[in-house]
Amino acid sequence: MSLTLDEARARAAMLSEVSYDLLLDVTSPDAFRSRVAVRFRTNGGDTFIELHQAESVDVTLDGATVVPAYDGHRIPLDGLAPGVHEVVVDARLRYVTDGEGLHTFTDPVDGERYVGGYLGLDITQRLFACFDQLDLKGPITLNVIADPTWTVLSNGLSTVADGGRFGFATTRPIACDLFAVVAGPYHSVRWEHQGLPMGWHARRSLAAELERDAAELRRVTEVCFDHYAKIFSEPFPFDSYDQVFVPELNWGAMECPGCVTFNEFMLPRERVTDDDRRRRAMVIAHEMSHMWFGDLVSPVWWEDAWLNESFADYMGFEVAETVAGYAGTRVSFEAAYKPGAFLADRRRSTHPVAPAAEDVPDVDTGTTIFDAISYGKGNAVVRQLVTWLGTADFLAGVNTHLTRHRFANATLEDLLSALDAASPRDVRGWAEVWLRQSGHDTIRVSRSGDVPVLTRDGVRPHRFTVAAYSPSLEPVGSRLVDLADEPLELPEWAGLVVVPNAHGETFARIELDPFSYDSVARSLADLPDPLVRAVLWAMVLDQVPPVSHLDLLARQLPRESSPTLVSAALDRTLNNLVRRVLPPADVPAALEVVAAACALDGEADEQRAVALARGLARTTSDTVLLRRWLDTDATDQGLALDPELRWAVVHRLAELGGVEAPEIEAERLRDGTAAGDLGAVTALAARPTVEAKSAAWAAMTEDPDVSVRRFRALAAGLWSLSQRELVAPYVAAYVAVTPSLARRGSAFAAEVGRAFPALPLTDEELELVRDALRGDVPAVLRRYWEDELDDRTAGAVSF
Ligand SMILES: [Zn+2]
Repeated sequence: MSLTLDEARARAAMLSEVSYDLLLDVTSPDAFRSRVAVRFRTNGGDTFIELHQAESVDVTLDGATVVPAYDGHRIPLDGLAPGVHEVVVDARLRYVTDGEGLHTFTDPVDGERYVGGYLGLDITQRLFACFDQLDLKGPITLNVIADPTWTVLSNGLSTVADGGRFGFATTRPIACDLFAVVAGPYHSVRWEHQGLPMGWHARRSLAAELERDAAELRRVTEVCFDHYAKIFSEPFPFDSYDQVFVPELNWGAMECPGCVTFNEFMLPRERVTDDDRRRRAMVIAHEMSHMWFGDLVSPVWWEDAWLNESFADYMGFEVAETVAGYAGTRVSFEAAYKPGAFLADRRRSTHPVAPAAEDVPDVDTGTTIFDAISYGKGNAVVRQLVTWLGTADFLAGVNTHLTRHRFANATLEDLLSALDAASPRDVRGWAEVWLRQSGHDTIRVSRSGDVPVLTRDGVRPHRFTVAAYSPSLEPVGSRLVDLADEPLELPEWAGLVVVPNAHGETFARIELDPFSYDSVARSLADLPDPLVRAVLWAMVLDQVPPVSHLDLLARQLPRESSPTLVSAALDRTLNNLVRRVLPPADVPAALEVVAAACALDGEADEQRAVALARGLARTTSDTVLLRRWLDTDATDQGLALDPELRWAVVHRLAELGGVEAPEIEAERLRDGTAAGDLGAVTALAARPTVEAKSAAWAAMTEDPDVSVRRFRALAAGLWSLSQRELVAPYVAAYVAVTPSLARRGSAFAAEVGRAFPALPLTDEELELVRDALRGDVPAVLRRYWEDELDDRTAGAVSF
């Protein structure tokens, strides 16, 4: 029973001047105390405050004890007289291990305990009683009782850290889903920049990794901060800026004002690749931009969540690429993110980038908005908007919007009116076709004689770069063009290869003429600009039939010089073509083709060698080679195995029957971290025996408290492209059993959805899924299943 739009509107109309004074006591490892005094003004009447599954709860209203009619979700506040009231809710709640509430984690390296409230959507009510909706913003004053040796971080500046009491300055008005609290024996790097206290923090057992990267993390933080201070007219809105790598975060990162939490995968052990650095810089820039867009000005309701995410996703890639010094970030967007947005836009679940409020009738529906449409497609659409408006007019509109709605809430209509006033172009007409309609246009190259002609199938205006090449793909020229209803002839490039949207400024399917296409398919890897190659790799892999896909990979991958594009092409091939589209009988041969394309013949570029070694470790059937890598702790070319690569080798060896349980246990002990525990879980589940599969399945389905991460690690080992017959019984079992597992909560339900059999399914097996969908399947899981079915059908039909 999540909050509905109607309830939120009624409560927002009734209440104002909300503020929270919160005390959390996290000294006991069994449960925590949450005492909150909530002050608010009301017009009078009945309302309620949310609190999720408290073990015990005491409530006083305006100083008098009341016996709450608490149903485990809401405390009614009925018959309130107009004016200001204070409700105090003192509760005892349980910690969680699925990231949805006050999360607890014990580090296997040193036994240290960490707790963290990583919130978002309607999770705050699992921490303290609150009016859990975006448009009832309020200042929050926090005190925490914790181990006196711990570090405790939150949105506001730390004011007291004395004998186990940690106090924080009252925040500016924030939406309560953006509250953050992080506590434990963190290792910290702190400094001041432009008068603002800043810090990076990580678990004590990751102190060496944090120190290794501290200078880079600080530099990126400062560069992004200075850039935003320059382009936004509103000053940085909060009193401090901490960034924390927290254990077991479900999201990549979370933009809590003044206290951003990051998934620990962004602080890798041992090897940090260039792609890791780019992605991390992109996320730092993304989250910091949210301080203005999302935190200073927040949506009224969840239909505008895309506005936060599309804007921040655009800013993240753009600022990392052009300001923070990470050239190639845009290449990764085109190659690794945008294809997922096209896939999502072809599913039955696609939706306009900007849905109507009524299409998001409750918060549960809001959770499904955080998808590849809101991030990847929204990012691409914002980039097209900036290209179409020009950066100056775009920022002028954004700045008016931010100032007009500072520390409050605003809608898409508010942003459009600010942009409309800043630009001579028809912003509202643009928004109607780009934001209010789902799907995308096709831009086609044809020939009039040998003159290239661009046409557009669809409804949207486009502005993008067209590039021209010789038949062997040497660059001849490029220019920015506008394309709408009228075809565009390019007589100056008669007889040449042309590539529309060569720099990825717009979001459209690209179809080349046969002459251009043949040149690209023949010489893709020779094209000098990696950004154009990224656009073309994505286009070609989207459109070729499976046989040509593998053929193209076999010919072009060994010559592709960009590690980013090597990784993206491998992921696309293994996660989509081989896993979803091929007939099951064709999978073993396809794995051989991929393994051969990843052959490491004295690769000189270490980044490229890592990408190829990871691909080879996922696909080779050569157990002698894998064993040799493991024994020497290096590839044959001398590339050291970092923990990620070493576990990939152990996983594949286990899958092929080349490693037994005692050796996997020895690897786990050698690793010694939480990541190592999960690596061992996956490897054990991957062994090719009836007993191993049965044990993995039992661990996934019979332990009601199995953690999100352990479930994911088990599924990664269970499904094996190389064990089709052995795992066949678990396809039917998955369809039959998991709908009941998915009722545990939305984070776990999403994990159950991601655990969909990662192998091509027979028609009979697909029918089992369709049949189950005719019955009762929880909404989050239903979405994953329908998307899986659509992706498999789309993959088969578009060829
Ligand atoms: Zn975001």
